[in-house]
Amino acid sequence: MTPEQFANAVLDWFDLHGRHDLPWQANKTAYHTWISEIMLQQTQVATVIPYFQRFIERFPDVYSLAEAEQDEVLHLWTGLGYYARARNLHKAAKTVVSDYDGEFPQSVEELETLPGIGRSTAGAVLSISTGKRAAILDGNVKRVLARFYAVEGWPGTTAVQKELWACAEQNTPYERVGDYTQAMMDLGATLCTRSKPSCLLCPLQQHCGAFAKGMTDKLPAPRPKKTLPEKQTLMLIIRNEDGEVLLYQRPPSGLWGGLWSFPQVQDLRDSHRETGLEIDTDSAEALTPLRHTFSHFHLDITPVLARLKSPTDCVMEGAPLLWYNLEQPQSVGLAAPVKKLLQKLPTPAQTPAG
Ligand code: SF4
Repeated sequence: MTPEQFANAVLDWFDLHGRHDLPWQANKTAYHTWISEIMLQQTQVATVIPYFQRFIERFPDVYSLAEAEQDEVLHLWTGLGYYARARNLHKAAKTVVSDYDGEFPQSVEELETLPGIGRSTAGAVLSISTGKRAAILDGNVKRVLARFYAVEGWPGTTAVQKELWACAEQNTPYERVGDYTQAMMDLGATLCTRSKPSCLLCPLQQHCGAFAKGMTDKLPAPRPKKTLPEKQTLMLIIRNEDGEVLLYQRPPSGLWGGLWSFPQVQDLRDSHRETGLEIDTDSAEALTPLRHTFSHFHLDITPVLARLKSPTDCVMEGAPLLWYNLEQPQSVGLAAPVKKLLQKLPTPAQTPAG
């Protein structure tokens, strides 16, 4: 199959079976494409749609995003995970406004200099919003190409990446590049799925290496297994007499950077030294633990309902604090398990008197 035949087969399939009514396809500006591409990293289309709509409603263009407070950006991102994406989005918007007069740069190389934009995202933004020829290699496309060309080895290695990029570059057509980009992403998401791909419906099936060799369940090779370390923490759920919950803002970078969380301690008896908060340990009550898994470790969280010995003792070493109102929540970004735990807490109106 020549590159032209490959692209034509994919485009013909896309015309009949591709997705043409996604919210970011209504107006294919660089801004809309960029927001959708960042949200779609590691996240399914169905999950992204409402987030995209809320985001664009609040930040209709790169200027409004650049001017926003980071807290509001993170708030709209709460639940999508991988918050570095939101922080980078915000930084990149500021750069586009300050260095490019609000117009997105028009080359892959320049786009790649913006925070959070890699080669594939740059290719997607450029090809979809301008029609310029640029290849993409996101997770979906990697899967299609690794199977079609029966490329062995984990795509995370430099050698396999290089090989797949070469395949992606060679197949990218000169015409209808934006449609081709969308078509490859759709093919990967809807037919060439991670498990049980629908090969019988696939326009590439006759020439697909993995299909011919019966290796569709072996390719692409999975990431070599490693056991993730486990860490433990206590999250202190402290409420004031109005039923509001004490949260603090985490440092701007690192784990849950800039998000709001419950105070965390390793040992309840040591909470004053760790956080500056004096806890009444006798009345503390541990709730059902939950596990949150990051890419590099598991965090086992024990939520603890706790009372402050002295309400004025909120020190937390200068970290911004807020009393979070469960009935009228403030617009702040919350770490995922914090959001989950807050949703389970009774509001003051539901708390039995006394
Ligand atoms: S034939 Fe199957 S494995 Fe090959 S590209 Fe199509 S869906 Fe993927």
